[in-house]
Amino acid sequence: MEIKAIGCEPLQLKRMHVKDGHTLKVYQETGGYKSLKKAVGMSQDDIINEVKASSLRGRGGAGFPTGMKWSFVPRQSPKPKYVVCNADESEPGSFKDRYLLERDPHAVIEGMIIAGFALGASTGYIYFRGEYNYLIHIVDAALEEARAAGILGDNILGSGFSMNIHTHTGAGAYICGEETALLSSLEGFRGHPRMKPPFPAVEGLYASPTVVNNVETFTSVPQIIEMGGTVWRDLGTEKSGGTKLWSISGHVKRPGVYELPMGYSDMEKFIMEDCGGMLRDDKKLKAVIPGGSSVYIMNADQILGKNVTLDYEGLVEAGSMLGTGGMMVMDETVDIMESTKNLTEFYRHESCGWCTPCREGTDWLVKVFNRIADGGGRPEDAQLLLDICDNIEGKSFCPLGDAAAWPIQSAIKRFPEDFKKWINKF
Ligand code: SF4
Repeated sequence: MEIKAIGCEPLQLKRMHVKDGHTLKVYQETGGYKSLKKAVGMSQDDIINEVKASSLRGRGGAGFPTGMKWSFVPRQSPKPKYVVCNADESEPGSFKDRYLLERDPHAVIEGMIIAGFALGASTGYIYFRGEYNYLIHIVDAALEEARAAGILGDNILGSGFSMNIHTHTGAGAYICGEETALLSSLEGFRGHPRMKPPFPAVEGLYASPTVVNNVETFTSVPQIIEMGGTVWRDLGTEKSGGTKLWSISGHVKRPGVYELPMGYSDMEKFIMEDCGGMLRDDKKLKAVIPGGSSVYIMNADQILGKNVTLDYEGLVEAGSMLGTGGMMVMDETVDIMESTKNLTEFYRHESCGWCTPCREGTDWLVKVFNRIADGGGRPEDAQLLLDICDNIEGKSFCPLGDAAAWPIQSAIKRFPEDFKKWINKF
């Protein structure tokens, strides 16, 4: 398991290999909480403007501009404001946030306090996926250290601003990574998504203005305040600022968490050289899902020799999406019908059941996949799968429906032979 930066100085990964990097002492010795000290001397508008200037886009998958999200919060509202950290990292292929929480929890806390100060929020929550229960004691200990040092709680660093942060755990439901489902769960209800608008920035937790950001998004904030928004942005590209963590798994020789500047060129070099040189057993590259399971799968022809840049725009241009940066690499031995069936079973299991297209559609998809895998494939099955996807995509209540449809649509289009061969297999 590799954890390292390529093409940039480690920012997100700065403390990954530092002994006791999770403690307040080491965090401060390595520059931690200097940005908070600077931020409490700034105006709220100036902080939000720095985040806007940074071109930081949410690292949880949707990629919404963070500064713009913060600017939607009606700070003059008499209602309490909330800052919520989405630590429900459940996207298959994505495992970067767990390392930030485990080895650099104070960076998350510092980012949240800066956000709280900028938005006038006196309460924050960190919502962990159920499977990350083992991390909570590490983050709770960090919160306690920060409280004892006057960094969290009343009158933070003598600024007159007060804020507290609490941890909360989900029960292992993928849908609670969707921000409105997360808020429902945090309120104690079943984790169902909510209608948008109103968006959480206006009416979120307890019907009050709430900013929900991902772990990596918050750990970017102290860096932005420290070096200035435009300097941080210029580490990447104009539209995709800064650096980004990628969790890479599958048939590369050195899977792990890598930090790359946004706009890193190119994807082929990253997979075939930076992650250990060629694939395991020197097999050929067949497919890559670049941004977690909810994005379009790419075939080798879309990557090799194409100089695909690793940023939001580059991956869209190449036919997929950046998503969470959870990159899954598959060699020539993988059967894409089987791997897509596997993913579809995941979405069927995780469908919350709230809306019909997703609840029924994912079930039908799995039934068709099972029939194909059991030897009952029919020539019209690929079109049948596409028709079901068409009835889910854009017709479901939340993005999980689209996420279930996209891998199948792209797999059938880009790997037709892997589906055809199953029709005549038995
Ligand atoms: Fe639930 Fe799926 Fe509908 Fe989202 S799309 S609300 S997960 S049933």
